[in-house]
Amino acid sequence: MQTFYDSIYYVVFNLTIALLAPLKNDSFIFWPFILSSIFIGLMAHFYWRNVETKNKSLIFDQRFLSKKIWWHRSARSDYVLYFVNALILPIFFGFFLLNQDELMIWFDRLVGVERSSPDISNHQGVIWQIGFTVIFFIAYDFGRFVAHSLLHDVPFLWEFHKVHHSAEVLTPITSYRAHPIDLLIMAWGGVLASGLATWCFIYLAGGKVNVVLFLGLNMLIAFSNLVGNLRHTHIWITYGPLFGKWFISPAHHQLHHSNEERHIGCNRGFDLAIWDRLYGTLYVPSGPKEKFEIGLGGNEGKNWQKIHQMLFNPFRQIIKKTYQIFRDKND
Ligand SMILES: [Zn+2]
Ligand SMILES: [Zn+2]
Repeated sequence: MQTFYDSIYYVVFNLTIALLAPLKNDSFIFWPFILSSIFIGLMAHFYWRNVETKNKSLIFDQRFLSKKIWWHRSARSDYVLYFVNALILPIFFGFFLLNQDELMIWFDRLVGVERSSPDISNHQGVIWQIGFTVIFFIAYDFGRFVAHSLLHDVPFLWEFHKVHHSAEVLTPITSYRAHPIDLLIMAWGGVLASGLATWCFIYLAGGKVNVVLFLGLNMLIAFSNLVGNLRHTHIWITYGPLFGKWFISPAHHQLHHSNEERHIGCNRGFDLAIWDRLYGTLYVPSGPKEKFEIGLGGNEGKNWQKIHQMLFNPFRQIIKKTYQIFRDKND
């Protein structure tokens, strides 16, 4: 009986946490990030309304507030997966997610350093703090780029990442439309790279260095989140041909979701465009919106909209493809 009540408590507690995400600063949909997205989105709407002579229709109403987007079958799948993940992830991540403190100990052992406590002394000056804020941000962005690239380039990992790319319309909740294994790999990428940066700073500074905070987060990550929600919308915001070579705009990521031949696999970065440039996957959007379709393309998208399809299709596909490889080898 106790287990039954524990299960009910677990479900109610985690669903409540998911509903209260707009109040949590570590959520993409933290209310200041939503407000800034609405504000920037409105500015973009008025800009395009003045610039676009052919299409004077209300881009913002049609492309952002439309029921066709927010109640599309794909958007409804996003909402369902958001709440299902809220129930799966606490257990799944509890088992598999790397802990920053353990990571520090691993790095210490790897290099053969002995330290009684890495948390002592927060006396470093402002230069250390600014340096750490920037390096942490760059490392975190790089780690997530590598993880995202692995999800695209390693065939069995792509099956998990397909869940995100099967979205047919984009809303800020599409950020959360991802298979738990996809989310775990992305988290590992970020934690490993930023953990290594943190360890280097502890090692060099002889103690923990604080980051410069804004809204309780690394200042640069918080700035990025002010515009980050617009990635998963249909509001076209580019940083132009020059800045677009250095920074990932919302339009960069919208093109990442395109299934047009010329866009496939482009723009895997989140904030800095330099990783895509080095890897040869950067596609800089500039000027008015290109015509492109979002999703997996063809008829495949329709097989990735139900919750059981999103959770189990990757495993089915991997088993099916592995079987085919063995069969082809033996023929
Ligand atoms: Zn996306
Ligand atoms: Zn992707």
